[in-house]
Amino acid sequence: MAEKKRLQNLGNWLKFLGTAGARFVMIKQLRASGGIWLSFSGSNILIDPGPGSLVKCALSRPKLDPSKLDAIILTHKHLDHSNDINVMIEAMTGGGFKKRGRVFLPLDALDVDAVVLRHARNFPEEIVILKENSQYEIGKIKFTTPKRQIHTVETYGLKFKLNETTLSLITDTLYFKGIKDFYKADIIIINVVFYEPRPGVEHLSLQDAITIIQEINPKIAILTHFGMTMLKAKPHDIAMRLTKELGINVIAAYDGMRFELP
Ligand SMILES: [Zn+2]
Ligand SMILES: [Zn+2]
Repeated sequence: MAEKKRLQNLGNWLKFLGTAGARFVMIKQLRASGGIWLSFSGSNILIDPGPGSLVKCALSRPKLDPSKLDAIILTHKHLDHSNDINVMIEAMTGGGFKKRGRVFLPLDALDVDAVVLRHARNFPEEIVILKENSQYEIGKIKFTTPKRQIHTVETYGLKFKLNETTLSLITDTLYFKGIKDFYKADIIIINVVFYEPRPGVEHLSLQDAITIIQEINPKIAILTHFGMTMLKAKPHDIAMRLTKELGINVIAAYDGMRFELP
């Protein structure tokens, strides 16, 4: 049984420990907010550990063991992305007793209104400050932060190179021209908060997501980080409709969804 569980966790995959976007879906936990776990070639990364990330790891089937994490990446310090970062750092570092793992984050996550506690900053092997248009490596996982997003705090989207496959995570941002050039990839994950455009709020709407999908023309587009209006419009139905209309495989992420990487 234990062997079967161990084998299920091998391979290359993403697991959505949450698909909640923005405040109300998170506060009410209409969707969970634990972030995304990426496992590739034996390396394990947790991206954006929002509220409940630790709990979701423990409840995952098979269980996800945070002491096996090689890195935690924070795209930005908003609570729906960062709330569990301290406890996940503790978990990654064996309660703070084993100096291991790396934490990647924007500088302002350590600055005024820091989200990483001072005493937890010594636990990981290294804290790496993300900068625009920079490259990083975690085991066989390579990633870049092509562009600082347009969002109320310092925010970076991520573009991974996983052997021959590219994978972009277009995190919270206002739509901007040229987004396609920064995030062109085989698989794109888009944080879609609003069903209808909401001018003045620095988040993507469904229309923005459609534009991005058409511009990039990926093999697969995964929608996640849903706000209330997106949930009401039923993300799964939207994804099926878009798959037909755009001729591109569009998937709506759900809590606990495991996505096998090629
Ligand atoms: Zn967010
Ligand atoms: Zn945000």
